[in-house]
Amino acid sequence: MNIRNTLAAFAIFSLTACGSGAPQQPSLTTEGVTDAMLAGGNGDEWLTYGGSYEEQRFSPLTQISVENVGALGLAWYSDLDTGRGQEATPLMHNGTIYVSTAWSMVKAYDAKTGALKWEYDPEVPRETLSRVCCDAVNRGVALYGDKVYVGALDGRLIAIDSNTGREVWSKMIVPDQVSYAITGAPRIANGKVLIGSAGAEFRARGFIAAFDAQTGNELWRFHTVPGNPIDGFENDAMKKAAKTWGGDWWEFGGGGTVWDSITFDPGTNLVYFGTGNAEPWNPKTNDRGLGDALYTSSIVAVDADTGDYAWHFQETPEDRWDFDSNAQITIGDIEVDGAKRRVVMHAPKNGFFYVLDAKTGEFLSGEKFVAVNWASGLDPKTGRPDILPEARYELTGEVFIGSPGLYGGHTWHPMSFSPLSGLMYIPINNTVMPYLADEEFTGTEMGGQMGLDFGSVAMPANKKARAEARKATTGALLAWDPVTQKEAWRVPYPGPSNGGTLATGGNLVFQGTAGGEFRAYAADTGKQLWSFPAQSGIIAAPMSYAIDTEQYVAILVGWGGLWDMNTGVLANVSGPSRNISRLLVFKLGADGTLPEPLPLNKRVLDPPAFKGSEDQVARGNAIYGLNCGGCHGDAAISGAINPDLRHSGAIASEEAIREIVVGGALKHNGMVSFKRVITAEDAEAIRQYLIKRANEDKALELTAE
Ligand code: CA
Repeated sequence: MNIRNTLAAFAIFSLTACGSGAPQQPSLTTEGVTDAMLAGGNGDEWLTYGGSYEEQRFSPLTQISVENVGALGLAWYSDLDTGRGQEATPLMHNGTIYVSTAWSMVKAYDAKTGALKWEYDPEVPRETLSRVCCDAVNRGVALYGDKVYVGALDGRLIAIDSNTGREVWSKMIVPDQVSYAITGAPRIANGKVLIGSAGAEFRARGFIAAFDAQTGNELWRFHTVPGNPIDGFENDAMKKAAKTWGGDWWEFGGGGTVWDSITFDPGTNLVYFGTGNAEPWNPKTNDRGLGDALYTSSIVAVDADTGDYAWHFQETPEDRWDFDSNAQITIGDIEVDGAKRRVVMHAPKNGFFYVLDAKTGEFLSGEKFVAVNWASGLDPKTGRPDILPEARYELTGEVFIGSPGLYGGHTWHPMSFSPLSGLMYIPINNTVMPYLADEEFTGTEMGGQMGLDFGSVAMPANKKARAEARKATTGALLAWDPVTQKEAWRVPYPGPSNGGTLATGGNLVFQGTAGGEFRAYAADTGKQLWSFPAQSGIIAAPMSYAIDTEQYVAILVGWGGLWDMNTGVLANVSGPSRNISRLLVFKLGADGTLPEPLPLNKRVLDPPAFKGSEDQVARGNAIYGLNCGGCHGDAAISGAINPDLRHSGAIASEEAIREIVVGGALKHNGMVSFKRVITAEDAEAIRQYLIKRANEDKALELTAE
């Protein structure tokens, strides 16, 4: 029985009961969140990840405005119990805030006072980290009926009783425990819970699936890439897609994972979702050829009730740059050629802002919103990019300095759209990345399946090169007009990976920065009006709600995620980063304060003397680049979240490193054994590389340039 049937039955029962003089039944609101609530409201509640079905992240509340935002203060805060990246947007219903945190834990607070009502820990095995590209993050929960839904990092979809925090059901929904993980927020459509998975850097076949909200039974599953033809294709869409692949693509899964955006439009009854890169990144690895590799790096629309294919629009054919089309998909009614039209708006990693017809997927317009050097532009009729030959690095055999790089011009950090200003507020990144094909790579038994040579292009131990790279790596809050496809205004930031945005009826845009401030700007001009020192870099997006005539703004604080983990010398480009994970809640006239943080200690490098051979260093560099750099940082320089191995005491001991890398001694921390791909001799080569790198950087700090 779906929730609507339940409600109907309940309503009939209530009428009967009242008629017979029985005690008054509780009102329907005790049944929790309904389809009608999800479809609209006055903005007092924030019931779904993107704020509404349209995912505009626009709060119509007007109490906090450009006139009085200066009086905004901290109403309450809650310290979280992990020190990893916090990416979730809190939800608020019936006076309770529901929020997921790192490791897919869920907490419920009294939204007015901050009192903790309950907490739920799915106890994700910590070794799951080894099959996740980008930290133990979770972007949020879904609410429906009397349940809270969370996707756990290890691949479970879990329903929790929203009143008690008790687990109601839990289903493992990914095909294996090697390649797939869940970081995204589930969404609700007609009584179904929708979720996909991450994994296109491992060996994953992308999918989105729908589950019965009451029972967790799977109702439909749409794969984003075709499987092995020998097994037969599930539908016509897969049959057509197979014609765009070469070689034995299924051997690597194909990729195209649905790790973030899912948007349901009741108007079209379509579910739109973004798909990740083709796999491996380097198409030569599995002889994928120059086919489009459908439906990777695309927006795909399927019927919400059946999962049947409706349309697709591929933003990045033959995606070998990790341009994932997974960024938030926003629906809106905007002017196209002088008439109002229902459109899909998208700003994916590849650097182009797209406007598509919501019903048909027809390309309406597209423009660069950051510097782009992989394509000369888009075909004005079809929107297909004109890929430049130098960008096909596996064919040239040369390094391609791609702009954007894998981090993207804009990625999962949520954007917001104000129907009042008509502007989209996008946290953008100006980043580049060197792409170099690994000619030898044919796949590895565990870990990343990119087919790139990361060791050879690691940042050199050179102050000038590092300073130049840091200077060229920036971010901004960009206000973009989707009608004219032009910039309205921007606020520059020293680094990328700033937080998601919230637009409000008070003509405000709220955003947290990588540098650790929570700010409010005037939505029409970009003028900064307010700022709060949050003590920790912010990557998540804020939300707003109202209780007892008071408007609140809430945000999850806690630096982490991909940028911190693998960009080495660039990880701290916004300033010294640290993780102090907290939920902060603000209202007008409040004057709460945070405890003084401990001072940031500058760690001095004190490595053992280098006694290895240059051959070991070269081998160690290559193995580190392939297996270690994704979490411990480019050139062995780590950000704030994972251990910086140049500082590790373990590098003094051959045995200690072997016990960790091969023996799995730190498995409980997420550092699993790599014995399937790294021998004891390799581990020693990595150790010598780390000692060499630590000594190089120690010398750099002593030498003025
Ligand atoms: Ca990807």
